[in-house]
Amino acid sequence: MDINWFPGHMAKTLRQLKDFLKQVDLVIETCDARIPESSRNPELQKQIGKMPVLLVLNKADLADKTVTRQWIEWYREQGIKAMSCDSLRRSGLNEIKRECQNMTKDKYEKARARGRLFRPLRIMVAGIPNTGKSTLINGLSGKKVAKTADKPGVTRSISWIRTGGHLELLDSPGLLWPKLGSDEDKLKLAATGAIKDELLPVEEVCALLLVKLAKQYPDLIRNRYRLEELDRTGEELLDDACRKRGYLLSGGKLDTLRFATQFLDELRGGKIGRISLEQPAEIMS
Ligand code: GDP
Repeated sequence: MDINWFPGHMAKTLRQLKDFLKQVDLVIETCDARIPESSRNPELQKQIGKMPVLLVLNKADLADKTVTRQWIEWYREQGIKAMSCDSLRRSGLNEIKRECQNMTKDKYEKARARGRLFRPLRIMVAGIPNTGKSTLINGLSGKKVAKTADKPGVTRSISWIRTGGHLELLDSPGLLWPKLGSDEDKLKLAATGAIKDELLPVEEVCALLLVKLAKQYPDLIRNRYRLEELDRTGEELLDDACRKRGYLLSGGKLDTLRFATQFLDELRGGKIGRISLEQPAEIMS
């Protein structure tokens, strides 16, 4: 699949990251619960080193509950503390706050033993674009401080956000792009909106996703798009679904671009249902 990437700010971001890591007690790494592994940046993990990290599987409201549970268990087996949340509706955020405090308890106790009052906990929120960093920061701080957007790549500057409580949050110091993985990885990132639509061959992406979802979530696809026969090529599924929606150009030609764009919107917005696009079992095989 031909997708152009612009990892322009990466080197600078990684340098900034190193500086900021010195100032924080803990890192919250955000990823997309629908594609946890494909939405992580391996460079971030390298830079973080021994610093405590809480991996937050955000947008859990859009992902398959059972699969998200499997991921959390899988990460636990890898020695990674992971939790899920829906930061848009602020569900799961109190648990995250508590876990952050729990993970830094030793530092807090040490300061107290020396008779010092521990300053607010300093947390850096980092992750690839569109994994909900700003929404999570707003949710954790209880106010609208970080800029959110439904287009990737909006947070660019660095700022400390005081929550008025026991936390100080550091917005991501820049753009961390997902790893330049396989076509399958790119497809998953495209499906969840981590890659700008302008860069996507939208119809090709839609056709590939229809095949993938027809295998993993046949009932959801069948019901929503009134497709009876699912064992077909992506192009055939796309044409059939487009015809059933009645998206036609003048002259009767199918308007597959319109359908594909609409399909991606519906998928990203959770309208098709709760869908996870990768599972721990695939990583292990
Ligand atoms: P950032 O680029 O990582 O800072 O991501 P944003 O916070 O700007 O969020 C990107 C998009 O995802 C926005 O449209 C948010 O409203 C949406 N979003 C963020 N968190 C969640 C969530 O937990 N659930 C859902 N459904 N949408 C979310």
